[in-house]
Amino acid sequence: MATATTTLKQVLSGHADRTAWFTATQALFNRVVAFYFGVINAHDGVLELSNQEALTALEKLTHATTANPDPIMPLHEIAYPIPALFRRAAINAALGSARSFFTHLSKWKARKAKAEAKGKKCGDRPPVPPRTWNKSVLFYTGQWKERTDTCIVLKVWTGSCWSWVKIHTLGREVPEGSTLGSPSLIRKGDRWWLHTPLEKTFKGPANVAHQLSGPATKLCSIDLNLGENLAVCTIQTAEGTVLSTKFLKGGKEVHDFRKRQLGTIARNRNMTGLIAQGEQDNAARWQKISHRDDDLAHQISARIVQFAREQGASILVFEHLGHLKPQQGKYSRRGNSKRAFWMKGRMFRYSKYKAWNAGIVTSRVNPRHTSRECAWCHELVARYSQGQAEEGYTMGAPLVFCAKCGMRGNADRNAAIVIGQRLLQRQGKKPSPSHEAHEEAAQAAGVGICQEAGGDEEPSIPPSGHAGLQWHGTAKEEGRWMEAPSSSIPVQLRLFSE
Ligand SMILES: [Zn+2]
Repeated sequence: MATATTTLKQVLSGHADRTAWFTATQALFNRVVAFYFGVINAHDGVLELSNQEALTALEKLTHATTANPDPIMPLHEIAYPIPALFRRAAINAALGSARSFFTHLSKWKARKAKAEAKGKKCGDRPPVPPRTWNKSVLFYTGQWKERTDTCIVLKVWTGSCWSWVKIHTLGREVPEGSTLGSPSLIRKGDRWWLHTPLEKTFKGPANVAHQLSGPATKLCSIDLNLGENLAVCTIQTAEGTVLSTKFLKGGKEVHDFRKRQLGTIARNRNMTGLIAQGEQDNAARWQKISHRDDDLAHQISARIVQFAREQGASILVFEHLGHLKPQQGKYSRRGNSKRAFWMKGRMFRYSKYKAWNAGIVTSRVNPRHTSRECAWCHELVARYSQGQAEEGYTMGAPLVFCAKCGMRGNADRNAAIVIGQRLLQRQGKKPSPSHEAHEEAAQAAGVGICQEAGGDEEPSIPPSGHAGLQWHGTAKEEGRWMEAPSSSIPVQLRLFSE
């Protein structure tokens, strides 16, 4: 059996006094977290312990009991009486932050030592411990009760005492057959939300090798890009017959958005010459860029998984992302390409967990020359733009032409097919699109990328053996999806926020 985790997000209907209590509870929680971060910092050995042992050790250091009347750093000196479960949630939050911080610190020390050994100066500054804390309060079992689809009773700090309060929740109901985890109280702007992990147990999908031994298995291979086509997905059978294609667009718009924001950030820096001035303004811009990228990565990954499901694919295939190639040029250009690269990573990660929750496994293949290889005869292709000579290799150009077999088409789609073929090859299959398919492709080639044309209807999947007709026929553009996202995208399905 496998488990899938999603997050149930519910907005809390607010009265002014509730908001004040939530704010007080969160402030207290963060004071306690900051206190424990300090305690961990002052006691070297703590981070070498397991989480459970560290929790016990930290309680011994701070919590007075009859057996332990004089702890070294008593918690009650900095804060009001704290319920045990509230304290433990704070300790675990502090442990998480401390582990992350000290890992970064030791990596930095290693880099510094390495640079000094070579007689150089270490370029980057040391990581600093958090100066402010903004953790969300986690309610362990015992800090909440009487949960129904529309309300919950939480134990909150009102500013003067601990009190049980009944709170109404709006939004999605708790789906049947899933187990509720500990809820967190999340502040977004001036609204408060309750986020609850939902765990569902299901019969997990079979592994890739097992699945591909059956001829009926379909896989969805995805080429992620930095250009306008952020993702191009193709469906093929375990025999290598290509069934359909989907283009997920939006790259240009987000590129232009980032370019504007990064340009303004660069100008602000030049103007002030000081980081302090205008810093707030820039911080807001950074956040805007980051949110936009994250939203888009979620939308694209949801569309990828939705397409795979509609087409009955049970495997997703991506290529390994490789390394970021540093760009030359202006600040905004460098920053933009870096962010586009990060977004590819997010699209992969989000697709992977969304696919898993839908019972689809994800695999990755070697990225070497996936966009230079012909999907039909595996020779190297020419890559060019409309109106250019069909020769040479222009990075990022939209069209491909294979001099050996005459294949012509969309370069990203060709790469997506090759990615799927890599997986089949790895499983000892020899995928090669059928000969008729190739003929059709060559005949239709004069039309250019006629995949661009297409309605909103989903292509029907033809009976196998007639795949040739599908080389162009079912491939279609997915336009306007940004304005009209399909209602079947589960908007709540977000596990990570970065
Ligand atoms: Zn070829």
